[in-house]
Amino acid sequence: MPDLSTSIRTIPDFPKTGIQFKDITTLLKDPVAFKLCLDEMAKRISGKVDIIIGTESRGFIFGAPLADRLGAGFVPVRKPGKLPAETISEEYALEYGADQLEIHTDAIEKGRRVVIVDDLLATGGTMVATTKLVERLGGQIVLILFLIELEFLQGRERLSDYTVEALIKF
Ligand code: AMP
Repeated sequence: MPDLSTSIRTIPDFPKTGIQFKDITTLLKDPVAFKLCLDEMAKRISGKVDIIIGTESRGFIFGAPLADRLGAGFVPVRKPGKLPAETISEEYALEYGADQLEIHTDAIEKGRRVVIVDDLLATGGTMVATTKLVERLGGQIVLILFLIELEFLQGRERLSDYTVEALIKF
């Protein structure tokens, strides 16, 4: 697999002191690297997929083009107050702060095969909340896919019930 890690830069102390922020904008602006990234993500998805879930906001960047490539639908999981129709919500803790995520109650039909995509796995709190939302609606999670995994935070341990893939590990 091509080394995509060289397309990502680390910004120290953003947005808070002590956080080593992985900035993916350098990868996204490079058409070759961005395409390679989507190619590698698509390769990891096998079998029938009905829905790709992207978590606000960087999960959208990868989720929507992947859904298009795979002939699947795209469903956004969003921050509170953004989705206009009836929603369910889950609280979660971040590496820096706490928040809630929401999904439309009619976004996933029971038994649909779902792949969840996000840019980065840190503590896993965001993804655990997303899995709860999907499962409350009856979706079957076949894969959780990240561009980046921060292995030292051991977020993967909180997702041990699922198949988890990450293209780049730091
Ligand atoms: P977590 O819930 O702790 O796994 O945090 C994951 C979410 O927070 C991802 O959606 C990332 O966009 C963002 N995030 C957390 N830590 C970082 C980091 N060091 N660099 C960039 N984004 C981060």
